[in-house]
Amino acid sequence: MGENKRCVLLTKKMFINGEWVDSLSGRTREIINPYDSKVIAIVPEGDAADSKKAIEAARVAFDFGEWPTLTGSERGAYLSKIHDLIVRDHEELARLESLDTGKTVEESRWDMDGIADVFKYYASLAGESHKTRVDSPIPETSSVMVREPVGVCGQISPWNYPLLQASWKMAPALAAGCTIVMKPSEITPLTTIKITELAEEAGFPAGVVNLVLGPGEGAGSELASSTEVDLISFTGGIETGKKIIQAASSNVKKIALELGGKNPNIVFSDANFDTALDFAMNAVFFHAGQICSAGARLMIESSIHDRFVSELKTRMEKIKIGNGFDEETQMGPLISGEHRAKIESYVDLAKTEGATLALGGRRPEAPELQAGFFYLPTLFTDCTSQMRIIQEESFGPVITVEKFESEEEALVLANDTQYGLSAGFWTTNPERIERMSRGLRFGTVWVNDFNVYFAKAPWGGYKQSGMGRELGVSGLDEYYELKHVFQNHNNKPIHWFGK
Ligand code: NAD
Repeated sequence: MGENKRCVLLTKKMFINGEWVDSLSGRTREIINPYDSKVIAIVPEGDAADSKKAIEAARVAFDFGEWPTLTGSERGAYLSKIHDLIVRDHEELARLESLDTGKTVEESRWDMDGIADVFKYYASLAGESHKTRVDSPIPETSSVMVREPVGVCGQISPWNYPLLQASWKMAPALAAGCTIVMKPSEITPLTTIKITELAEEAGFPAGVVNLVLGPGEGAGSELASSTEVDLISFTGGIETGKKIIQAASSNVKKIALELGGKNPNIVFSDANFDTALDFAMNAVFFHAGQICSAGARLMIESSIHDRFVSELKTRMEKIKIGNGFDEETQMGPLISGEHRAKIESYVDLAKTEGATLALGGRRPEAPELQAGFFYLPTLFTDCTSQMRIIQEESFGPVITVEKFESEEEALVLANDTQYGLSAGFWTTNPERIERMSRGLRFGTVWVNDFNVYFAKAPWGGYKQSGMGRELGVSGLDEYYELKHVFQNHNNKPIHWFGK
């Protein structure tokens, strides 16, 4: 896909039982490029009826198909094929992701590297032994633990990292032998459609990989509530996550949730100042701050606070905003006008709560940026932990700064949140590293780094940031049931109740 084809109109379909189909209602949705608000694709707008059809296909493929009965190595070979196809189409995928989300192509390329790795990693894990023998305490018996696929999995993903989040669900589920129905965000479906095309090319049996497009209420909620679905894996906001939990109670299906984050980035006065400053930028401004793990909550020790804020502001003023397809661009637009309005309301709220607006807090004025959903990098100082701008996820290019006096205070403030996805801190003191790593109640803790994730390391949240883990061995375990097979080799009566 060339740079000058940004306005090409794609027409795509959903994938159910090995066939590309329109929605049953015939309804469609326009997909918008956030850079210039132009329509880039028309896709079917599915609803509950379409999801039911996809669930039925996945159910039949699981209950009667060969997929769950293949050896792990055989399934791994399919995943390796997808990996190879992602590598082949890497640039096309990256450009498609940028077209759909507005993020820079460089960031999308990075996403695609990670996605390819995820398929490679789970391809290798798929072939590992699924049986473990344990010592039975009873003579002449044997006891074996067998991991078996959970069954039909609904997989709902968000708009900020569309294919990355989908891949964290798709690859382990398929490696385990499950069949899947994916539902990407209704506003960013393009790369999930593309990977479904790659799955078709890789030759998965019909019904193993299904794709439904459409809104959360209807297409998505059916996946969560259907009694024919065995597991629902969801990535998105906390409030939607709570609805998923309620809907999943219909058949007590298994639930894996990756929810929001409000992630402290804590800088101690003994940190390497320049590195901490540099990473304070990386922590937030990738994808215009629309990252679940964004270090948007910056906490700075008082003795370096003023200098750090001053230098951060200077760096933020230089961020190049623009078209993600321009290699010079460092930050693209927000995903939609609706999302920008949400960030604007948080900025207004922060002002009324008494935070000091030190930079940004408005849309850019450049004429070429008026058609897209742009917002300037924004800095608030004088924030306190009880402000809503600190306690809630604004999900945009907004940094809030809190000042602290001691390590104890920093730890208490950082943990004072409903979220528990990730946190980072900066120090050169080994004992402090030990204490802070232990004390922070977050699923990922970065020490002298921020926003690092990779296939082998589990990812997920404490508290309301979710339940279960993606990535790593734990991310595969979510998709297994554990069966205990106990066998009596003696085969003689014991006469407990007499003869
Ligand atoms: P969202 O909750 O609005 O939507 C996420 C997905 O759920 C979409 O596909 C949507 O269509 C669907 N959905 C909405 N209502 C539904 C319902 N009632 N039933 C079933 N599905 C429904 O979230 P979003 O705005 O797309 O994404 C942003 C959120 O995702 C942020 O809170 C962010 O922190 C979170 N996120 C978390 C992680 C993580 O790893 N923890 C990663 C990325 C994003």
